[in-house]
Amino acid sequence: MSSTNNPLDGQTNPEVTHDVHLQVEPENPTAPAVEPDVPQPSTDASTNLVEQQRMRLNQTLMRLIQQLGPIPAVPVVSSEEARVEENDDVGLVDNENNQQPPTDNSEQATPSDYQNVTKLAWKIIPLIVFPALLFFYDHFVGIAVFFWCMYMLYGANERIKGLVSQKESRSIIMALFVILLLSLQSCLVVFMFIRYELWLYMGFLASSTVVISASLWDSLFTIVIVDTIMNAACMVVKCVLLIFTPLFLNNLTRSRLYATTETTFRLYRSLLPIPIWFRYVSAHYHLIFVIFVMTLYGAYKAKVFYELFTEFSLAFTSLFRSSAQYGVYATREHVLELGNPNCSICYEEFTKPVKLQCEHIFCEECISSWFSTSSMTCPICRQVCEDAGKLGHMDGSSGLGVTVL
Ligand SMILES: [Zn+2]
Ligand SMILES: [Zn+2]
Repeated sequence: MSSTNNPLDGQTNPEVTHDVHLQVEPENPTAPAVEPDVPQPSTDASTNLVEQQRMRLNQTLMRLIQQLGPIPAVPVVSSEEARVEENDDVGLVDNENNQQPPTDNSEQATPSDYQNVTKLAWKIIPLIVFPALLFFYDHFVGIAVFFWCMYMLYGANERIKGLVSQKESRSIIMALFVILLLSLQSCLVVFMFIRYELWLYMGFLASSTVVISASLWDSLFTIVIVDTIMNAACMVVKCVLLIFTPLFLNNLTRSRLYATTETTFRLYRSLLPIPIWFRYVSAHYHLIFVIFVMTLYGAYKAKVFYELFTEFSLAFTSLFRSSAQYGVYATREHVLELGNPNCSICYEEFTKPVKLQCEHIFCEECISSWFSTSSMTCPICRQVCEDAGKLGHMDGSSGLGVTVL
């Protein structure tokens, strides 16, 4: 660049400023200063003019550096307004830098996550929903009958518990109504699915041909419905007991009879699925796999049967127990030592008082009812009673669990 190309008066300074500003980079602000170092003419006048021009250029560059340097630290509005007056290009750059505030990134990530989850859900849900819908449609009647039976059993169980708690003042009409309802329900189910010949399975009398031709659903449905009907039969027996036994049995013996009835039916129900599963597996799978599966199944059933048989033997032997099941029978001297002739549970005079290990005395029936509905602890001192185990279902209740295996 020669001296003839550089403007010498002040009017052209804005143009120079404009050109320099466009070429200056913030990272290299001294680059335009090289221009005045170009060799100049040797006259004094021209030297002074060049020196003046260099000073003006330096001042202009310094102003520009001062304006461009603090861009990141200057507030957006003030820097933008300041530059728009001098240079439109700088203003455009600032506008681009101000278009993406840092907070927008976090706000945009959340909707994208929701979209990904939604897309994944739309891929997975049909794989579960459609087979489930087809399964429910194919077996709608069987599933509906099962839930209807369970609802009826739940209602009957609550009724029977209420009748048992009423003891001698129970409603015989209500007991007969429960018997009628459960009997009709069981007969209706057997009639609806007459092709299954459910009555044969209740007595281990089913022919092998019927089971072999059955599918997995048929076998499962047979086991569940038969178990439900047998549970209803157990409730019918309890209703018969609560109608007649108050005539010749005391409350404690009746409670033990309810427990014996429940454990007997549970033991029997646990055996009913065994031939059905064995015949189904042996008819549909290889011999080695059958042996492997039935060995595991036999071990599981042996464990379950042992537990149920323990409960049954405990309840059955309690019917003939001459000694007190919990603690020992208290003598008259024990009651006199106590100083209070009334039971702490029924607040009446002791009837067949029994003394627990903690020396507290209660009526035998009262403490038996207490143990049947709560933990095996003394009602007064909360000491654990470890005598003879605990009899369940003495209140006439029935377990509503379904035996599937
Ligand atoms: Zn009592
Ligand atoms: Zn006690």
